[in-house]
Amino acid sequence: MRIAVIATYTHPTRRRVKEPSIMQSAVPELIAGLCPPHAEVEIFNEKEADIPLDRHWDLVFFSYLHSYYEHTKVLSTLFRQRGMVTVAGGRHASHFPDDVEQYFDAVITSEPEPNVPALIQDFEKGELKKRYSLPSLGAAAIQPYRYDLIDFTKNRVRLAGIEASRGCPFTCNFCVLTGHERYRFRPIPQVIEEIQTKMTWNKNFMGAMDNVFIFLDNNLGGSPKYLRELCTALLPLKKIWGCALTFNILKDESLVRLMAEAGCRYIYTGLESLNPDSIKAMNKGQNKLSEVNAVIRRTFSHGIVLSFGLIVGSDGDTNEYLHRLPEYLADLSYFSITFLGIVCPYPETPFFRELQAEGRLLPGTISRDYDGYTLCHRPKNLHPSEVVEHFTRLCDTLGTLPNIARHYWSKLMMSNMPRYKSALIFSGPEILSIRNPVQNKARRYIAGMDSMEEWDTQQQAALGLQPQRIS
Ligand code: SF4
Repeated sequence: MRIAVIATYTHPTRRRVKEPSIMQSAVPELIAGLCPPHAEVEIFNEKEADIPLDRHWDLVFFSYLHSYYEHTKVLSTLFRQRGMVTVAGGRHASHFPDDVEQYFDAVITSEPEPNVPALIQDFEKGELKKRYSLPSLGAAAIQPYRYDLIDFTKNRVRLAGIEASRGCPFTCNFCVLTGHERYRFRPIPQVIEEIQTKMTWNKNFMGAMDNVFIFLDNNLGGSPKYLRELCTALLPLKKIWGCALTFNILKDESLVRLMAEAGCRYIYTGLESLNPDSIKAMNKGQNKLSEVNAVIRRTFSHGIVLSFGLIVGSDGDTNEYLHRLPEYLADLSYFSITFLGIVCPYPETPFFRELQAEGRLLPGTISRDYDGYTLCHRPKNLHPSEVVEHFTRLCDTLGTLPNIARHYWSKLMMSNMPRYKSALIFSGPEILSIRNPVQNKARRYIAGMDSMEEWDTQQQAALGLQPQRIS
């Protein structure tokens, strides 16, 4: 039996652009790890390379984000026309199974660990069902990824990733986890064993990325106690790693020090806003804005590169705040922003339900618009065009070479921890990537106002498909 696992991708500019980066979808390796040993499995990541449309597999698993749905529907329809059986899974498929069922042979609406093996068994018996919703088997059931299938020649900067936990104990109103995922973590010996015996390493750049990996968890710090124990177990491995976690962990100096000693050299945290009203509107009370500067200084001085994400367009934002945001950032002694997006009301979130009840979702929105770079709602204090004006200006202002120079200059000498400086140098291009989403000057960045990618539009017309409308 031949199986393909495909992570699809569409670029925020709505042009057919690839964006190989350190962080890639690891769902193909995860699903491949759940396939039986007798299956011949291939994995594809469209962020790195085009999907070969002339190949044949018996079974094709698709993993996608909301905004990739229209494109994934096209690929699935083309494959089904050629006799292949297709499967969709993930958050969008779980939330809209009735819609998704029209374009795929089967839909997985729950965790992959029990459902992928059950689906494959049914497929082999010729008894495939339309929907698979077996309940979670718990975090201990997470299987080792198929690291051996990662092709580091297709993406020279990518790193192998591993999950230690799933979910998050916080309840930010815009987050797709809120109300859907309980926080749970894997037994630490299982995680350590997987890193020691299964993981593969990127040997590019003369070994600069050797023995380096990332934790894929939404929030590795969901339980400070677990994180402490995990770091203690990682100490003897002498590996280098990165992760995403919440601001509250960064305030705990002894834990940050332990993470650095255990090999952590990179942390991403969603700062989201420097505006207290917006933080309140997002229910993100764990972020303490008065402590941002101290947290940045402390984290770097322990030898960890800290990167922040910001979003605009939330209900606390005003013209004055967004206008002065570059000044506020300049006031921070250490520039550390690597992601800028527009707050997105994903349909399964409390934020979406609030906007829906208040009639503030923009008309004409399709799933393609839910990409985190397109305004899908009317904010309380701003006109949609004002949000977009601020967003595009900020992307152009923040994602610049002088800001990379400032990033390097202010932090290069802050720590002598092994491989701190190389982690810092690798983080520089992230700053430049802030401007990537706004490279298409013809885009309006307001839901319902931009057409989909030309290829997807043409294919949907030829195949008789309609974009999914969300309101
Ligand atoms: S802290 Fe992050 S992962 Fe957790 S609910 Fe908030 S946005 Fe989601």
